[in-house]
Amino acid sequence: MWNKEKCNLCGDCLVKCLYVNYDREKAIQQIEELMEGKPAEILSECVTCCACNEYCPTGANPFDLINHFQEVYGSLPIPDKVKRFMDAGVEVPSSLERGDDSKPALSLCVMDPFLPKDAIGGQMFDNMTIAKGGDYFCYLGYVHIGMDSPLKANAKRFVDALASIGSKEVVLLHADCHAMISKMPEYGIELPFKAIHIVEYMKEYVQEHRGNVRPLGRKIAYQRPCASRYSTEIEPVLDELFELIGVERVERKYDRESAQCCGGLFSRIYPDRIKPMMEANIRDGIEAGADAMVFLCPLCMGALAKPASDNGLKPIFITQLVRMALGELAFPV
Ligand code: SF4
Ligand code: SF4
Repeated sequence: MWNKEKCNLCGDCLVKCLYVNYDREKAIQQIEELMEGKPAEILSECVTCCACNEYCPTGANPFDLINHFQEVYGSLPIPDKVKRFMDAGVEVPSSLERGDDSKPALSLCVMDPFLPKDAIGGQMFDNMTIAKGGDYFCYLGYVHIGMDSPLKANAKRFVDALASIGSKEVVLLHADCHAMISKMPEYGIELPFKAIHIVEYMKEYVQEHRGNVRPLGRKIAYQRPCASRYSTEIEPVLDELFELIGVERVERKYDRESAQCCGGLFSRIYPDRIKPMMEANIRDGIEAGADAMVFLCPLCMGALAKPASDNGLKPIFITQLVRMALGELAFPV
């Protein structure tokens, strides 16, 4: 939620934005225009990476302001087929496979078709209740088509669907789902279950089963998804997980606060702007000495797996990586 009273008009948010080249004066002017409800230039320049919410030092959440007016003014040239794809999320056939009630349940949101086939399996997920499909769709993806109203409108529906699984704890595979859960206080919705980020779940599992771990001794470039901007408390947990499985997250330009959006959607809308950035992202990982590119979001993996692989960076989904350290899958060569 945009917190107008927290904004001191410092301009940091749009000075740091990787997708525009604003000086401080222009950045401040853009925020001022938005605060006056004007259709500022940033509305159409912004690729909805959500990063400025994290760049803002005061917690004012400038992306939420931008996203709100992107919807008001219809600022993004989103193709109709992409809008239809988003609207179809809720129609994806759903299923609830019952497992051991003493274990947390796992929600895949609508990500099942986008996951590598061996992403879910093995000891970490053995006999868990698994919910998937449109009934469990989290709606966060709408921010990427320049709309914020579907999130609030469907927040209760999302929480009720997860609650209907009947588990005290629900592990959220998709970073978007955890991001959506982080917005519930602003919508005044209380959770009747404990929501667990997939990274938290795997870190706990690996910690409790250290004897099963074979440290991988690999260097990886991490592709931090946009949704992680809402769940910044997960970053140290992820670092712990990497350490536990013997993986070095290489220091590189486009990680952590300076991570790039995967470019999956906007490389189709603004190819001249975004494709060179995607190439720079891959190059950055290679130059930092990584063997592989590791993804937390299946859609980021869909966007970057081929260019990463074509350039010698093996694409690996995060659950696959942990399964490799548990000796269940081979590290790709
Ligand atoms: S969401 Fe990303 S692209 Fe949009 S203004 Fe903020 S930092 Fe820039
Ligand atoms: S939203 Fe945050 S970063 Fe942007 S101008 Fe206001 S205080 Fe500064």
